[in-house]
Amino acid sequence: MNSSTYDIIIVGGGPAGLTAGLYASRARLKTLLLEKMALGGQVNNSEHIENYPGFENKISGFALAQNLEKQAKGFGLKVEIGAVNEVSLSDNHTKTLKVNDQELLCKALIVATGSEPNKLNIPGEEKLLGRGVSYCATCDGPLFRDKEVAVVGGGDAAVEEALFLRRFAKKVHIIHRRDQLRAIKILQERIFSVKNVHFIWDTVVDKIEGEQSVESILLKNVKNNTKMSLPVNGIFIYVGLKPNTEWIKNTLPLHEQGFVETNERMETSLPGVFAAGDVRYKLLRQIATAVGDGSTAAFAAEKYLETLNH
Ligand code: NAP
Repeated sequence: MNSSTYDIIIVGGGPAGLTAGLYASRARLKTLLLEKMALGGQVNNSEHIENYPGFENKISGFALAQNLEKQAKGFGLKVEIGAVNEVSLSDNHTKTLKVNDQELLCKALIVATGSEPNKLNIPGEEKLLGRGVSYCATCDGPLFRDKEVAVVGGGDAAVEEALFLRRFAKKVHIIHRRDQLRAIKILQERIFSVKNVHFIWDTVVDKIEGEQSVESILLKNVKNNTKMSLPVNGIFIYVGLKPNTEWIKNTLPLHEQGFVETNERMETSLPGVFAAGDVRYKLLRQIATAVGDGSTAAFAAEKYLETLNH
């Protein structure tokens, strides 16, 4: 088995991981960033980002991720695509990761694997995935031109994606389990001012129906238990995030919801293991907070490496 040694390995190539990579490489540390799929992570799904400071004229998530990648690589960051199969963190001085047929060693590890959309876990959701069931309006929205679609959830993601979908769809039904949105006020103001968005409050989706593609959804009012069928061609699900910590859960103690707990230096409970971005247990999951975490994690890891050399 091939084996390579790094000062720092970062797992996850979203804004947190790429920023950690930029800072660590700029500090002249031998750094590798591992990404399972495509650099950028969830940010690639955002058509326009309007709340990342300094980009008054909006930037697409994809463009921002590309800029971050170029900037980090410019300082010498090495990037490899691959999923971690095995991880050993028991040695204080050397962490070991197995990726494909390689053994990768590092003195400090930064966990930046982010999170992914929660599922509703209802009948029809898996069967009709990609055939009307979606977790990404930016990716699939244009397929629903002049059709009726449902969006499930009441947070920032649900409202933002509904605002995107209503440009294509004939009608967007937002289905929320309460009678008030969780989304920030500016998004609420926007969604309440558009015409082709219809709200179905106090309601959950029990079932997604259709043979070849989504034809309707079965709804239940949680206050009076009445059920109704709503004909739609698509259902976009935004009911929160689940951390991507499966790969590390047997070696790193996690918060009860599966997120990684850190202190303000992004240190986890294991020496030399840091975490950054949406994978952390924290108040606000934004690009702005992810880059703050990433830079802090890289800086704290640099300080940790100095202690090993003494
Ligand atoms: P979120 O803020 O956790 O909201 C999840 C929504 O789904 C809530 O309205 C929740 O209802 C509902 N929900 C949860 N479980 C459900 C279930 N089993 N059945 C039905 N409804 C359910 O998640 P998010 O909107 O995906 O956002 C995640 C993070 O990303 C947040 O920190 C958010 O601020 C951030 N984000 C920011 C932006 C932006 O800044 N533009 C855009 C997207 C996301 P309750 O309200 O009743 O709990």
